[in-house]
Amino acid sequence: MKDRFDVVVVGSGAGGGVIAGELAQRGRDVLLLECGPHLRAADFTRWESKAAHELFWPLRFAPLPNGELVTFLAGRCVGGTTTINTKVAFRAHERDVAKWHPASGLTSDGSEPFSVSDLEPYYDRVEQVLGVRERSDWEKSVYTAEAGFRALGAELEAIAAYQVGAESGLLQKPVLDLAVSFQSHHKEHADVLAKTIAKLGGKPVIAKSKYTFPTDTLKTQNDVLRFAATLEKGAVSAYLGAVPVFGNRDLAKAAASILGDEAMHWAILRNAVGEAPVPAAFVS
Ligand SMILES: Cc1cc2nc3c(=O)[nH]c(=O)nc-3n(C[C@H](O)[C@H](O)[C@H](O)COP(=O)(O)OP(=O)(O)OC[C@H]3O[C@@H](n4cnc5c(N)ncnc54)[C@H](O)[C@@H]3O)c2cc1C
Repeated sequence: MKDRFDVVVVGSGAGGGVIAGELAQRGRDVLLLECGPHLRAADFTRWESKAAHELFWPLRFAPLPNGELVTFLAGRCVGGTTTINTKVAFRAHERDVAKWHPASGLTSDGSEPFSVSDLEPYYDRVEQVLGVRERSDWEKSVYTAEAGFRALGAELEAIAAYQVGAESGLLQKPVLDLAVSFQSHHKEHADVLAKTIAKLGGKPVIAKSKYTFPTDTLKTQNDVLRFAATLEKGAVSAYLGAVPVFGNRDLAKAAASILGDEAMHWAILRNAVGEAPVPAAFVS
């Protein structure tokens, strides 16, 4: 082996592997160093504990300022973590890319603030190289699970929102009682969904530690009721999406029964703020 190179890249993962490849394609003499083994198709035996030993770095942990631990999982082989990752290829979200310019001054070629459209040609190229495609061949069970998670997420959000409403001090006694009773329905719905998801082998989503509700716009009782109505509408629409994909008839029946209850909440809330309780013959 030669002892002089234009560039030495350490690590063959998503970062190093791509840099080494791009430089080599541009005619640079590149040495790519990787401390893990170079494994080939025949080495992937579907034996999980063996793979964890051969392909992964030992689990590492780092403490957060609040005392919790973060776990670091990473590949230790040619390809690095890309060899062991899930192969999901999302593009960065516009709202995240929008933070880059204020944080670092990053601009596009025309000195405009850097935006997601500046990344598009690069994404196009990477996706072509990797063969990224939108999956339309998911198992039916994936749609069932997704619908269940979405519905449970809507329930948890509604529970948190009614709590905000109840603690706002803006609700008069009868309205407060109604809000608390609606919240208790959502708790029962969430409980049933979480148990069903667990029974089917899934890990139910849990409530977020913080929801971003538009609390600064809630100034009157009507504001709170309108806000609750929006969430009920969101929950109804989550169940409308779920019922047709639940192949299991008992599950579909339970989801339809919850949908009915939440549609009643929505109608009552609309009525309370002076809107037509049932605005159309069909809910969409
Ligand atoms: C379980 C899991 C699932 C994931 N799923 C996805 C997904 O679906 N989609 C997605 O976009 N991202 C996913 N990621 C994240 C993504 O894979 C990583 O962000 C990405 O691979 C990191 O790239 P990297 O180059 O920084 O590091 P790595 O890819 O980890 O590469 C670092 C390489 O450097 C080597 N190395 C380290 N030290 C030395 C040294 N001193 N000498 C020589 N070599 C060294 C390591 O062995 C490793 O091969 C997932 C991550 C994990 C852990």
